[in-house]
Amino acid sequence: MFWEQSIQCDAATDIGLRRQNNEDSHCVHICRDEAEWRRCGHLMMVADGMGGHAVGELASRIAVETVPHTFLKATSSDPRKLLQESILAANHAIHERGTQNVDFLHMGTTCTALALTPLGAIVGHVGDSRLYRVRRDRVDQLTFDHSLEWELERQHGTLEGIYNAHQHKNVITRSLGPEKTIDVDIEGPFPIMPNDTFLICSDGISNQISDPEIGAILRELPPPQAVNMLVNLANIRGGPDNSTAVVVRVGELPANVIPSPLEIVPEESAILDWSWLFGFWGIAMAFVIGLAMQLFGDEFHGSVLVIISLLAAGILSLALIRHRRLMRDSQLDDDSYTHHSRPHRTAVSLTSKALLDLLLKIDAELQRSARDDGWGVNWTEHEQALSSAQLCHREKRFPKGVRDAARAIGIIMEQLPRNSAHG
Ligand code: CA
Repeated sequence: MFWEQSIQCDAATDIGLRRQNNEDSHCVHICRDEAEWRRCGHLMMVADGMGGHAVGELASRIAVETVPHTFLKATSSDPRKLLQESILAANHAIHERGTQNVDFLHMGTTCTALALTPLGAIVGHVGDSRLYRVRRDRVDQLTFDHSLEWELERQHGTLEGIYNAHQHKNVITRSLGPEKTIDVDIEGPFPIMPNDTFLICSDGISNQISDPEIGAILRELPPPQAVNMLVNLANIRGGPDNSTAVVVRVGELPANVIPSPLEIVPEESAILDWSWLFGFWGIAMAFVIGLAMQLFGDEFHGSVLVIISLLAAGILSLALIRHRRLMRDSQLDDDSYTHHSRPHRTAVSLTSKALLDLLLKIDAELQRSARDDGWGVNWTEHEQALSSAQLCHREKRFPKGVRDAARAIGIIMEQLPRNSAHG
């Protein structure tokens, strides 16, 4: 990406409806000048603390203070290394704090950090918070969940036949704090395209909202509305956990800047290298010469040459298929491959119409609860937003309808009675 590209970034966090504390923390650092951006890049992160009472809060707060502090003051020229060192520093700080006080002994936190640098997007990640990238209609999860469920699936290739596999969803296998040393996943640089939108979120969001829904919300709503919609939706669906969302959208390229190439897909080109092309070229030449010999009278030798070249083409094709399969298998076996610049999961976002239908349905249900329980909603304002959304639906102006419906839901959710909802 380029320094000249604008950045739109917003964050929202909410305690949810069932918890006594908000143990999530987040931070956003947008560089003040180009020199700082060239040195390290814009940085955003989410940390989801654990350990009970106020302990989780402390762990996640130390993480969001230590990571940017280390990242921004360091001098290394490699942002990947810089991000790794910053997260290791946070692990050290939390672990030290944990050993000082018996109440803090098992405190830990997840940590998902995104740096938008001149090289591209770089991700540092420990735990089960997530980073998503939305590009047009596709939503990609760029982080690997360090949960028992994902680790089991990686080991066995499938969760089928594993007893109660989905109950291991919330058991996390890696976090900052409990251990003196920790493996940090560093991924990227992922090329950044204009209008790419990234979401970093805690599991309070990703457990309640599906990937296709996340993709559509990020595509249709500007970042400030998107973060509110995500948090509202998590609460509408029960709000069992704290929820935190940081959304960043990268702007268009300025007209005087030459765009960078699209994502490179290396495996196809690497497999079909020059030796294969040369082999196929040789066979094609033999085939053409055989045909020419037939044409010019030497039918016997010409036919032999044509048959031999056809056989050779068949054998070479089979060899190529086998070679590609071997290459693919070796890439799957190689951890560094799956950990390098590839989405771990990908989905197609809902269409604008499907998202509008969903939001209108949610609004109708919310209205019922709010009216029955007498929430202090500004119904006039709500009615304006809702009728505009319904009109857009009839006129098939779905993106505008989505924004109006999100506004209508937001107006009701502002009056959500928190205390009566607890317990
Ligand atoms: Ca959580």
